[in-house]
Amino acid sequence: MPDSSPDISTGPRILVVEDEPVINRAVTERLRGSGYDVTQAWDGPGAVALFAESVPDLVVLDVMLPGFDGHEVCRRIQAERPVPVLMLTARDDEADILVGLGVGADDYLTKPFRMRELVARVAALLRRVDRAAELAAVPASELGDLGDLRVDVGARRVWVAGAEVHLTPTEFDLLVRLAGDPGVVLTRESLYAEVWGWAGATGTRTVDSHVKALRAKIGADRVRTVHGVGYALEPGGAS
Ligand code: CA
Repeated sequence: MPDSSPDISTGPRILVVEDEPVINRAVTERLRGSGYDVTQAWDGPGAVALFAESVPDLVVLDVMLPGFDGHEVCRRIQAERPVPVLMLTARDDEADILVGLGVGADDYLTKPFRMRELVARVAALLRRVDRAAELAAVPASELGDLGDLRVDVGARRVWVAGAEVHLTPTEFDLLVRLAGDPGVVLTRESLYAEVWGWAGATGTRTVDSHVKALRAKIGADRVRTVHGVGYALEPGGAS
């Protein structure tokens, strides 16, 4: 049952979507204790309805839900209004994660997770939204020579060889960070810290998964992997 009790908190609004009562309540209590204004949904349709009603700043979204799953919820809410989404998954499964990234999830936590880590990830995602506005102020000239890759930072649009490609907010921020130093290898840890704002660096698979998704959109040879180190943008495509 949804908790519709009035909340006097004025912190950022978070929608928690989780059908397991123990986890939903624990996450909600912890986030409320951290100053967030939290609403709860317990299934797919309820999440979509409450998203429109409560206009949250961030969504914590379980994948396995009654009605329809978290991926479908993410697809529908992102189509309505871009919002940062932290997915909760039952298993550390690459295929599952890629599906989530494809529908616009920004970060992942694999169950079981520590509440402290959840709160840190939520705070980092919200900080990233603030930083996106700062990034928008970066003049295009600071992005260096990107060959036939064109990035309009202000409008958050990207073209490859004249054709526009649609990136998720996270993919875009990742691209802008890599494009800030073309050809330079950036470590997974630094990308995680700078793009996600999360200095813990335990979830480096998140970076790998987003790079994979970015490659699928802008061309695999444009992002070079330096094994065991990190990634570099190769503007003209690696030869
Ligand atoms: Ca579930």
